[in-house]
Amino acid sequence: MRRRIVLFGGSFDPIHLGHTTVARDALEQLGGEGLVFIPAKRSPLKGFMPFAGDEDRRIMASLAVAGDDHMTVSDCELNRPGPSYTLDTVAHFRKQYGDPTDICWLIGADTVDDLAYWHRITDLIDACRLCTMYRAGCDAPSFSRYESSWGRERVARLRADVIETPLVNVSSTEIRRRLATGRDVADMLAPAVLDYIRAHGLYKSLEPPSFL
Ligand code: ATP
Repeated sequence: MRRRIVLFGGSFDPIHLGHTTVARDALEQLGGEGLVFIPAKRSPLKGFMPFAGDEDRRIMASLAVAGDDHMTVSDCELNRPGPSYTLDTVAHFRKQYGDPTDICWLIGADTVDDLAYWHRITDLIDACRLCTMYRAGCDAPSFSRYESSWGRERVARLRADVIETPLVNVSSTEIRRRLATGRDVADMLAPAVLDYIRAHGLYKSLEPPSFL
């Protein structure tokens, strides 16, 4: 039988309940055998380095999925010199799982605007199923503007792979902002992730740490 895995990349700086809630829902809707969170070494499109270090982000992601048999964390992008290109990561998993495997790569609706700038985006659309999830505060995903450059068939596939995930109004930016100003974030994070942040003194400032 054809295997299906679901991959979810991001900065996860820090991982929050928005990420894990939509991930669980998408995995169920897609019927994959498992979902892998993949913290990026450096997002090619974010103009700044992550606030927390690679190891801290990997550990927080592991804490967030602990006890869930269907979710794991991969350090494959953290172990590659940045920036982290999704096409390389899909190739890595394709090699690991072999053919035939459906590889579903999750993105949030806010990412649709950026797709035009992604590295070899048409090759990526051809290499996996790029699945777009709903996100609170964003319009429902629309791809019409890409039809002339990427072709109708690719855009039809992107449309077919939109997943109506629950709306969870949380972002890492808001969490970092609240933590830096001493406000409560308990309803936005898994308790173990919040304990880790406190124990390691993360996100105390809105400036990225100088060691990065
Ligand atoms: P930041 O605020 O620092 O930009 P973020 O909360 O968007 O961070 P990322 O780690 O950058 O988190 O996101 C990784 C992926 O998860 C992206 O594709 C993003 O669109 C998606 N995502 C993040 N938060 C949500 C959410 N609440 N609902 C749906 N998708 C989300």
